[in-house]
Amino acid sequence: LDYTEGQGWHDGRIVPYQPILLDPSAMVFHYGQTVFEGMKAYITVNGEVSLFRPERNFARLNASNARLCIPTIDEELALEALKQLVKLDRDWIPTAENTSLYIRPFIIATEPYLGVSPSKKYQFIIIMSPVGSYYAEGINPVKILVEKQYVRAVAGGTGEAKTGGNYASSLKAQEVAAKEGYAQTLWLDGRENEYVEEVGSMNIFFKINGTVVTPALNGSILPGITRDSMLQVLRKHNIPVQERRISITEIIEAHKQGTLEESFGTGTAAVISPIGQLKFEGTEYVINNGEIGEVAQLLYDTLTGIQYGKLEDVYSWTVIVK
Ligand code: PMP
Repeated sequence: LDYTEGQGWHDGRIVPYQPILLDPSAMVFHYGQTVFEGMKAYITVNGEVSLFRPERNFARLNASNARLCIPTIDEELALEALKQLVKLDRDWIPTAENTSLYIRPFIIATEPYLGVSPSKKYQFIIIMSPVGSYYAEGINPVKILVEKQYVRAVAGGTGEAKTGGNYASSLKAQEVAAKEGYAQTLWLDGRENEYVEEVGSMNIFFKINGTVVTPALNGSILPGITRDSMLQVLRKHNIPVQERRISITEIIEAHKQGTLEESFGTGTAAVISPIGQLKFEGTEYVINNGEIGEVAQLLYDTLTGIQYGKLEDVYSWTVIVK
């Protein structure tokens, strides 16, 4: 789908996967005006094709568009296009346990112009690829490095938008974490360097003394769709939950007192990933003996159960592609 100023979005089409031709001065290459989404299609136990809350992804894409001065897309049209595409590629959706078709909708600024201003031309593209489990270790707990030197996002920045620049700014810390044997970075707030924000590609939760806490959305955290869904599951199960500011000091203190019972991340790709170890200022803190906790297991079973049609979808999250 193309956008041209004055004409709006036009020329929607499905073409075979192939390179696209862009002018070397296309604005996306220079000023990073781009947004994207990450979602999945699953084959259910009944052999149907299901999408998980896809309307939320297109709503978030438009929220990112607004922040990046990219024109709004028609969310219903985008979902209809996605359904057509998924139907066409039905045979590419893997059926083995915990596999899916990863879907990447994205928009790029294509106007050839070397000046910092919003582009007058865009392309909206959806690509897809079969994927297995996100972590090589499967649902085994991951090790996370708490980042103090680099900052991903600050209030007023683009942190809550899903835009390439946020990921570019996270690469250096990710490289450092990987060299030390850590799967991902845990970001702190950019101002006081004290409050927990999120992990590289997931939102983070802690269970402290029986209460599940997750950082409140504050403008610099990506509003994860899995995060929102899991908050609903927790509330339905009457598990006490809080969305609030959480300092890293509070986490370390809870660990010292033995009340940090669990930690896990949530995300489309990461599903529910238990966190078995946090490293902060050179000290390693093992959580729940490095094992998956009860709450993480409940959420994992509920989420994948609904996604693969093994559990009744009492939340009406599933969209079956017919
Ligand atoms: N935070 C970041 C930075 C992410 O990239 C993702 C993955 N989209 C998430 C959180 C989780 O969001 P979601 O549950 O919508 O996949």
